[in-house]
Amino acid sequence: MNHPNVPELFGSMVFNDAVMKERLPKEVYRALVRTMELGKKLDPSIANVVANAMKDWAVEKGATHFTHWFQPMTGITAEKHDSFLSPDGNSSIIMEFSGKELVKGEPDASSFPSGGLRATFEARGYTAWDPSSYAFIKDNTLYIPTVFYSYGGEALDKKTPLLRSMEAINREALRILRLFGDTQSTRVTTTVGPEQEYFLIDKELYLQREDLRLCGRTLFGAPAPKGQELEDHYFGTIRPRVAAFMRDLDLELWKVGVFAKTEHNEVAPAQHELAPVFTNTNIATDQNQLTMEIMKKVADRHGLNCLLHEKPFEGVNGSGKHNNWSISTNTGVNLLDPGDSPRENAQFLLFLTAVIKAVDEYSDLLRVSVASAGNDHRLGANEAPPAIISIFLGDELTAVLDSIETGSSYNQKDKTELKVGVHILPRFPKDTTDRNRTSPFAFTGNKFEFRMLGSGLSISGPNVILNTIVAEELSQFADELEKADDFNSALNELIRRVYREHKRIIFNGNNYSAEWEEEAARRGLPNLRTTADALPSFIAEKNIKLFTKHKIFTEAELHSRYEINMEDYCKKLSIEALTMVDMAKKQILPAITKYSYYMTETALNKKALGGNICCSYEVNTLEKLSSCADTLMRQVQSLEADLESLRSISDTTAAADFCKKNLLHDMDETRAAADRAETLTAKEYWPFPNYTDLLYSV
Ligand code: ADP
Ligand code: MG
Repeated sequence: MNHPNVPELFGSMVFNDAVMKERLPKEVYRALVRTMELGKKLDPSIANVVANAMKDWAVEKGATHFTHWFQPMTGITAEKHDSFLSPDGNSSIIMEFSGKELVKGEPDASSFPSGGLRATFEARGYTAWDPSSYAFIKDNTLYIPTVFYSYGGEALDKKTPLLRSMEAINREALRILRLFGDTQSTRVTTTVGPEQEYFLIDKELYLQREDLRLCGRTLFGAPAPKGQELEDHYFGTIRPRVAAFMRDLDLELWKVGVFAKTEHNEVAPAQHELAPVFTNTNIATDQNQLTMEIMKKVADRHGLNCLLHEKPFEGVNGSGKHNNWSISTNTGVNLLDPGDSPRENAQFLLFLTAVIKAVDEYSDLLRVSVASAGNDHRLGANEAPPAIISIFLGDELTAVLDSIETGSSYNQKDKTELKVGVHILPRFPKDTTDRNRTSPFAFTGNKFEFRMLGSGLSISGPNVILNTIVAEELSQFADELEKADDFNSALNELIRRVYREHKRIIFNGNNYSAEWEEEAARRGLPNLRTTADALPSFIAEKNIKLFTKHKIFTEAELHSRYEINMEDYCKKLSIEALTMVDMAKKQILPAITKYSYYMTETALNKKALGGNICCSYEVNTLEKLSSCADTLMRQVQSLEADLESLRSISDTTAAADFCKKNLLHDMDETRAAADRAETLTAKEYWPFPNYTDLLYSV
């Protein structure tokens, strides 16, 4: 490969600020920036000018098509391509793109999940340009980020609630900033840097496994003799094939403006991680979707397959996504950074307290936001935080809050009572150690890291929740403080009270330990183990109140999303169960029979020779194999019966419950029988690549 000019390459396919400045008339550019930065409504009259400039730029870059790019409830992105071509009336063509086409689209969208929001007679869905995220070119197509909504105006996508939640936290945070005398900031946004884990396996091997192709994870497979116990893969030397993939991936991401910064090996064999530089939450969400898509595409080009499932292999770590989240002003202040003055410290402590209260009161919603059939295999296994939500603050910050609560000094030397807004806090060391890697929600110096997300998840959902629940607490704080006569003492009192009431959510110890589960139960913290347990919280009374107050979701939208998620859970598990049945009946059982036949033939032949020839190896293996086959056959019948019962349950909540109680159990038993048979069968007879092949061949 020749050496690319990276500064020139970076963002070269993005209709970004620099391009807009260069190509748009001054007043149009200014109007657009106001929309992007301050969330102001866009004057429709400028749409034509922007559309034309976008089209000219895109055509110069070789684009022939445009697409309204949107994020339906499937969790992946959707697109429908139209060409710029128009007849000019004189039997030739011109390249055209109008403001109308930029602003609004009408994909034939009747097949996207709507959870009952759209009856077929009003099946139309519309897409509308989101000017707060940049358009870009990929595969000769101009991609226009859009929201997706129904004829009746209900959100059908993951972007609309995210934008609404960003408005909510902007509004409430500004109220707080004004109380601290900040008159400069006019916009508060949340920022996100999502660290993305993934597996790379050989494409040829991938294609030989029906479970990977249909479900993204292995439904069968005995453990490889070597797992991750040596931890020799973590940050280890990157193999040439993987290095070539990573280099190519970086270039592709840089072109579309994704600031991919770090690439390294992860703990499990064949597992890797990519970390981008953080940006505002809307753009970070678009870019993470784009990153996942491009990862898959580039892997394919390198003869690899990129697995984004939360738990592709049993017995080795699954893949997650760390959602690094903070709040900052358009004057460049990170509101979760302690700062250097008593005023900044006080403001920091108030925002910190808001997060503590938010996570304690709405831990159920945070849990819902990461719930999926796939992530259920990961949460609470030995590589990921349990399903119990708690916050890691670190010893020093906890000591500061403790001393505020008790009105005592927080260090030995300084014997005076710690007063918010009077004292300067120590700098809290950035978390670089291992001590808190077990926490689902960790403060890491100037941001929080939410670590429960599965690797394939759109980060939209968790950030909608984070933005909304913190907006709610800020709103309550502002209500109280705006009325106060003495701001500083009211502030001190508020922080003291809220910390006392919500400190049960703080846990600095080992989240993976069994003692924590018991301790958390004593503290009354919820432990919603499975998706079926977690999802109902989404439509709990208190949460409906929260979402409707801040105009994030209407009640109808909430119920539709609940239905979609419940259904998705059941559908994913049914597909897995059907795939298991298929593989067991058509591949595994026939392989066992074939190998047993070979063993039987061998034993009979040996016997026919007479003499002292012994057949105990063959007979012993045959006995064990036939017992496995027998169990496997009966388990397959149970699975089939479960699937039959499931089809007759029409209520989604009841169906999810059935999946949790029956289907999952029978899937585990089916797998156990097949995996036992695998260890008894000669490799050449086993019908698909095993764990050693999959994990150690790239
Ligand atoms: P490390 O964990 O390697 O020390 P950082 O903590 O700086 O690195 O960053 C980890 C991830 O957190 C990166 O994706 C980074 O962009 C992101 N991040 C850093 N600061 C913020 C912030 N203020 N808001 C959101 N994400 C951030
Ligand atoms: Mg991290």
